[in-house]
Amino acid sequence: MSFDNLGLAPRLLEAVAAMGYTSPTPIQRDAIPTVLEGRDVVGCAQTGTGKTAAFVLPVMQRIAANPGGPRALVVTPTRELAVQIEDVAGQVAKHTKHRVAVVYGGVGYEPQIKALKRGVDLLVATPGRLLDLMERKVADLSHVDVLVLDEADRMLDMGFWPQVRKIIAAVPAERQNLLFSATMTSDVMRIVSSTLHDPVRVEVAPAAKPIEAIDQRVYPVGGMQKAQLLVHLIREDDLDRVIVFTRTKHRADRVAKVLHQHGIKSAAIHGDRSQSQRQSALESLKSGRCRVLVATDVVARGIDIDDVSHVVNYDLPNSPEDYVHRIGRTARAGKSGTAVSLLSPEEHEALRDIEVKIGAVLDTHDAEGFDYSDHRLVPNPERAASRPVRTVYSSSRNRGRRRR
Ligand code: AMP
Repeated sequence: MSFDNLGLAPRLLEAVAAMGYTSPTPIQRDAIPTVLEGRDVVGCAQTGTGKTAAFVLPVMQRIAANPGGPRALVVTPTRELAVQIEDVAGQVAKHTKHRVAVVYGGVGYEPQIKALKRGVDLLVATPGRLLDLMERKVADLSHVDVLVLDEADRMLDMGFWPQVRKIIAAVPAERQNLLFSATMTSDVMRIVSSTLHDPVRVEVAPAAKPIEAIDQRVYPVGGMQKAQLLVHLIREDDLDRVIVFTRTKHRADRVAKVLHQHGIKSAAIHGDRSQSQRQSALESLKSGRCRVLVATDVVARGIDIDDVSHVVNYDLPNSPEDYVHRIGRTARAGKSGTAVSLLSPEEHEALRDIEVKIGAVLDTHDAEGFDYSDHRLVPNPERAASRPVRTVYSSSRNRGRRRR
């Protein structure tokens, strides 16, 4: 299957070739011709399926490159996603001469206002900042022909719906609508029926493909030895381009620090970090300046980094869905990848829930050459932080025992 028969114009095919894509992913194969026909589309697909190009390519073909306000508007929940979409659109625009701009919160207004004033064909936006700019009369949505609502379920989860509704009210009623969502909850379906017109549903089996392509390994270990085992695995198995997920922001910072102390270049990324800190952490992993990115689930969805070789669940996530989202950061677009879960005795129940969700029992492994009796090398992040004066190296066996 190639891109040639999807109805894309020569300039778009040039862009596809320049991006290095040789064959369309399933969502691209189904969505591109349907969007080109002008139909409304509901895409049930998560990040990692190639959904960004699935809408960017045909939308760019449908909108004229000329002045007079954005012709296409993509609304997406997070800054990271907005930047990724702008990146793909920017690559396509080199071949189509469209002007692309992105607006999101947490940064200064001036560059975004300037970009809007220069003229934009495709605008990518997070809801809050876009509303701000509409109220300041800098963003004029009265010429929008195509509206894309990206990660609709996540926008609902994050409480953005009131803003999104105002945005929908500001675009012309006569328009094409595309809505993408990883899950089709009843709330999402309500939005589909109130916003879209006779939509065509395109769907990729959620997570089925990523899961199959991912080597999933579980390493049982005492909670106190997790940091030590992580350092061991990264060093001994020569892990490169790793995302480590922790349960809390605090643990993310601590794990990054412990890795640093062991000479492993790493950066932490979570909801408390400023936009520029998050961006520079992502960039440093992409460029290879650091090997490990430590993250919380808040930023798990939507991180788009090519060639992540390993996802490490330092802590198992609270929900099996988050497990699937986390490990979907590796084995992107047909590549293989490894997901490693460090399993403390308290997490067995969480593992069972995950196994039920994915319909498979995961293999457990012992780390070769790791001294499971040695509890002294690496301070436990959580305990060490909560007791800054006396660093605690105690083993999990002692947990719960009273000191006499
Ligand atoms: P997305 O789901 O849009 O976040 O895309 C996930 C990753 O797949 C991105 O890194 C894209 O660059 C890559 N990708 C998208 N479409 C293709 C394709 N047809 N062939 C190869 N890689 C692709």
